Amino acid sequence: MPLILERGEDVDKRTEAVKNFWRTGKLNPQCNVQFGEGGAGTFSDGKLTTLIRDLRCRKVLEEMVEAGAPEEIIYSHKPHVGTDILRTVVKNIRQKIEGLGGEVRFGARVTGLEINSNRVMGVIVNDSDRIPAEAVILAIGHSARDTFQMLYDLGTKLTPKAFSMGVRIEHPQQLIDLAQYKQFAGHPRLGPAEYKLSYHSPSGRSAYTFCMCPGGVVVAAASEEGAVVTNGMSEHARNEANANSALLVSVTPGDFPSKHPLAGVDFQRKWEQRAFQLGGGTYQAPAQLVGDF
Ligand SMILES: Cc1cc2nc3c(=O)[nH]c(=O)nc-3n(C[C@H](O)[C@H](O)[C@H](O)COP(=O)(O)OP(=O)(O)OC[C@H]3O[C@@H](n4cnc5c(N)ncnc54)[C@H](O)[C@@H]3O)c2cc1C
Repeated sequence: MPLILERGEDVDKRTEAVKNFWRTGKLNPQCNVQFGEGGAGTFSDGKLTTLIRDLRCRKVLEEMVEAGAPEEIIYSHKPHVGTDILRTVVKNIRQKIEGLGGEVRFGARVTGLEINSNRVMGVIVNDSDRIPAEAVILAIGHSARDTFQMLYDLGTKLTPKAFSMGVRIEHPQQLIDLAQYKQFAGHPRLGPAEYKLSYHSPSGRSAYTFCMCPGGVVVAAASEEGAVVTNGMSEHARNEANANSALLVSVTPGDFPSKHPLAGVDFQRKWEQRAFQLGGGTYQAPAQLVGDF
């Protein structure tokens, strides 16, 4: 039977921790917008974006509908759930896993792997508890930097990869509606408008918008102390006043400060910590007008 070890808390306790962070700036490094039941997806916009073509994509959508997501995600070209509904979906999926005999343990951070003769024998949880295991799947996302370090220290082969980084750009939703729909802007059947922009420079570097959130909000999404990370999310109704989007530039291992496999993490930390200082050290993101930029 599968055992899921999750460093953060269940979705209800997690929602409290996230709300507390947004209200007071007190970050819980184990339970936040990245960590906890449902992973980074729980507080996401819930745009079900995938660039893969796989028969199992439909199965995933069907499971989500069974767990409470709107049925339209099965046929919609750009399916969107919204963070308010996702929280229920995530909980229902966990209860289904438990009903089928699986087990989920919260507050259980994997801090080590027991390896003998090149074979995994077990995992160490919270630095002390040993759980025997012959097969371990690490589905740890992109923010578990301490776990990447643990794997590096164990001698696991790690390879640096290219990624993108940037800022969030925000506009009044009405402005985007007008630009995209022209005279039809505001028509109730159209919904809030989206956009996608990209530029490929001859140097090979690209700048582009990504993860656009119509009628959404920019949120503080840090999981590490002393660093600012932003992301965008919306509720199912997408009825907030502003549209926001990530505005990104691609970076490659050649931009990183060294050839160390985790140099990309150092690169991210540098900019996140600078943003923290510029924002006044409170996890508020520094902000400026596009014209000033
Ligand atoms: C605010 C926000 C909005 C987003 N909007 C969208 C969107 O609209 N559409 C989209 O496609 N993507 C969106 N994303 C990105 C998307 O959420 C992630 O790409 C996705 O969640 C990655 O999935 P994953 O399973 O790889 O990792 P994660 O979702 O990060 O899950 C990893 C899990 O592992 C746990 N974990 C890590 N280390 C350990 C450890 N050592 N021991 C135990 N547990 C551990 C974490 O707590 C976490 O629950 C958004 C992200 C955020 C934060």
